[in-house]
Amino acid sequence: MSELYQKLEKIVSKNCISDNLYIRHAYSRTVDPVLQGVPDIVIRPTDAREVSEILKVANDENIAVISRGGGDCEFGGSKPIGDSGIVLDLKGMNNVLNLDQENLIVTVEAGISWGKLNDYLCNFGLYTGCLGPGSGLTASVGGGISHQSVGGGGCAKYGSCTNQLVSLEVVLPTGEIIETGSQANKYSKLPFNRFGNGPDFASLFCGDNGIFGVKTQVSLQVFPKPPFANYKTFLMPRKSEEISAKIFTEFRLKGIDVYDSMYFMDLLVRVGTEKGIFPLWENLKRKRGTMFYTVEANTEIELEEKVKQLDKIFLQNKAEELG
Ligand SMILES: Cc1cc2nc3c(=O)[nH]c(=O)nc-3n(C[C@H](O)[C@H](O)[C@H](O)COP(=O)(O)OP(=O)(O)OC[C@H]3O[C@@H](n4cnc5c(N)ncnc54)[C@H](O)[C@@H]3O)c2cc1C
Repeated sequence: MSELYQKLEKIVSKNCISDNLYIRHAYSRTVDPVLQGVPDIVIRPTDAREVSEILKVANDENIAVISRGGGDCEFGGSKPIGDSGIVLDLKGMNNVLNLDQENLIVTVEAGISWGKLNDYLCNFGLYTGCLGPGSGLTASVGGGISHQSVGGGGCAKYGSCTNQLVSLEVVLPTGEIIETGSQANKYSKLPFNRFGNGPDFASLFCGDNGIFGVKTQVSLQVFPKPPFANYKTFLMPRKSEEISAKIFTEFRLKGIDVYDSMYFMDLLVRVGTEKGIFPLWENLKRKRGTMFYTVEANTEIELEEKVKQLDKIFLQNKAEELG
């Protein structure tokens, strides 16, 4: 057993640390199967204090620490480069800590998945607006903030998941624990404001891939989920890249708050259906680009009106409704 292991095992409980070959190999890969390197140790902290102690030891020993949330990064960010390092598995920190229903802010441990968080919020008729990445059933909130994730739904209306960030608790590489936004003020009981307390330090950690520190707590704005929604897909005319961009612009010019919309270019539809990725489109006679929208509303009449306006935009641009 290495000296490093002996120091680290004093910080976490026995079943939260391993240098077992099989465990280390399991953590040498993520959703991306390429082998970049095998870590020396895998450790699963349960709070910021443990993370801080681990980083202090790693600093003393001059050894790399790789934060890992859901391990859904396709570009190797959450696994070691070379046979060395400590993988810090944050999935043990996956609790909702507080839901402030007056200010509509939820505070969670950074390892919670977007799926688990939104499951919890729907009990209160709430959601996170942008639902994080498309991998959100397993990807973590901390990973999403570290990647500026968009794509799991809601980004047309709410922006990237970092747009609704209120405050962070971060353990810096030195082991120091800091808080951002209103939480940097020691008299503030609960997070309520990201901006207006001096520079926006939270933004330093958005999209940092975990390089600037380990996120341990995240506070996000949450929103009431509108009770009505509709969804439609259209077959686009030939060579529709520019037309799709025009349609996106028209949504904005008409002031329609589309919840989500995505364009799939001709090539993607053709290759995707050939490979069985889009089975619903197999019967399409013409494998052209497709585009969908999702729209929400507070009343049925409001929804009908929005759908009417959106359909008009698509039809005027020679798209055909698929359903
Ligand atoms: C099927 C699929 C669909 C996807 N769809 C999308 C999409 O729609 N939009 C999109 O943007 N991406 C998408 N992705 C990519 C990826 O899933 C997301 O970027 C996701 O946010 C990563 O979260 P994670 O918890 O899995 O992070 P990980 O892969 O574990 O880590 C990602 C990076 O963040 C760092 N990190 C993780 N947690 C922390 C933390 N607590 N503190 C500090 N650093 C941390 C890691 O070191 C790493 O550099 C998709 C991936 C898959 C496999």
